[in-house]
Amino acid sequence: MPTFEQLGLIPKLVRAVTEKGYSEPTPIQAKAIPAVLGGRDVMGGSQTGTGKTAAFALPILQKQFERRSKSRSPRALILAPTRELAVQVEESVFRYSKGLGIHSVAIYGGVKMPPQISKLRRGVGVVVATPGRLLDHSEQGTIDLSEIEVFVLDEADRMLDMGFMPDIRRIIGLLPERRQNLMFSATYSAEIRKLAGDLLHEPMQIEVARRNTAAERVNQVVHPVERSRKRELLTKLIEDGDWRQVLVFARTRHGADRLSRQLRNDDVRAVAIHGDKTQGQRTRALEEFKRGAVRVLVATDVASRGLDIRQLPHVVNFELPDVAEDYVHRIGRTGRAGEEGDAHSLVCRAERDKLAEIEALLGKRIERREIEGFEGEDVEARGRRAGSGPGQRGRSRKSSGGRPGKGGPRPEGGGSGSSDELLEKPPRRKSPSAGAADKRKRKPKWSAARKRAAKAKRAQSASAAATAKRRPGKRPKRRPPPPRRGKG
Ligand code: AMP
Repeated sequence: MPTFEQLGLIPKLVRAVTEKGYSEPTPIQAKAIPAVLGGRDVMGGSQTGTGKTAAFALPILQKQFERRSKSRSPRALILAPTRELAVQVEESVFRYSKGLGIHSVAIYGGVKMPPQISKLRRGVGVVVATPGRLLDHSEQGTIDLSEIEVFVLDEADRMLDMGFMPDIRRIIGLLPERRQNLMFSATYSAEIRKLAGDLLHEPMQIEVARRNTAAERVNQVVHPVERSRKRELLTKLIEDGDWRQVLVFARTRHGADRLSRQLRNDDVRAVAIHGDKTQGQRTRALEEFKRGAVRVLVATDVASRGLDIRQLPHVVNFELPDVAEDYVHRIGRTGRAGEEGDAHSLVCRAERDKLAEIEALLGKRIERREIEGFEGEDVEARGRRAGSGPGQRGRSRKSSGGRPGKGGPRPEGGGSGSSDELLEKPPRRKSPSAGAADKRKRKPKWSAARKRAAKAKRAQSASAAATAKRRPGKRPKRRPPPPRRGKG
């Protein structure tokens, strides 16, 4: 592997990465840094955890440093799908830019605009933004995108999954035509290829790792356990293993809250992070977890996306995700950038089909390890051999058409028309039914009779909505597109 100097980085940046503790470039950095410095467009097939942030941030900063400008307008725009990721990417940019005199700002929704506006007014070289809030600034004229030289689309597949495509196209329309484009995506769907074809000019293709590499690096184990005894088993694993820092995944916001409460009752310091928490609460929870003040961070899938917690040794799936691919993302939180990690899944009988789908996606069987006192739960799929090979397809996000919520609280961010605030969609983009879905989700207990009544009511309102849709006068008003700014 070449050194950072050999990749052409200036001494100030080499010092910055050395201070961060990086001894050598990761594979994606080794390929992308020279390409970006050379002005090429890049298509990076890479997940988080591979060091891709530095792969684009370092050369962007170097180019701005070498060709300084007096303008206060940003010269690089990085789009990220979630607030958390935007904040983390900006934190990295901020650290790497130490001593270069280049300022950066993270722009995302759910917080007040004026502090972001005043940072923009003072002058920034790099803007890291989520799409909705960026468009808000653009519409209000508080950001000038006409001097953008480099445009980065980070986690492009997530962006499309979250329905950001129209926003991305509008943002691209606001940028100058002459610019360098970098796009990163963990997966390649037809839609991603089409976007790459439209956006990138003779890109350098960088493929650093096969899709499920995290799955190969992480020691995975399934603990069969009755559903009602999962919390007890989790506490035992934490205490017996003397785990100091563990990220636990729950399927729903309500489940995440309840579990963190129960853990605290067991004297395990725990905190939950999900879309019902304010930005401040989430930042605080993450910060407490990072500095070791809390031992367990209970997160939903959406809330965990893009979390950068270095050397996270243990990840626990308290419940398996509905979409097999989310399992790979979850366990990717451990064993990052070459570190070893372990992922424990507490699996009950009702989850055996999900387990089989995950194993089909991985193309291998996950080790079963029964814990003394918790034995006897059968988690093997009936009628088919689990993990019989990669030919057996897991339920993918695309093929399932969203996450299937089979009654009970829906998984966070699940299904179409998700109303999760974490997705950084401004309220005007919410679907009219989203508020109602939210209220449903927050109801605490569901008796079978109430479930049936609610289902009937939902079916009734769906058919009423369909009738209303057919009547032209009842259509919700569409906002007109905003005036175009900039040269592009
Ligand atoms: P990313 O893929 O950008 O989310 O980075 C994943 C993690 O790897 C972050 O915690 C980075 O700080 C870390 N990282 C990035 N580059 C390196 C490197 N060259 N050596 C060691 N760790 C790194």
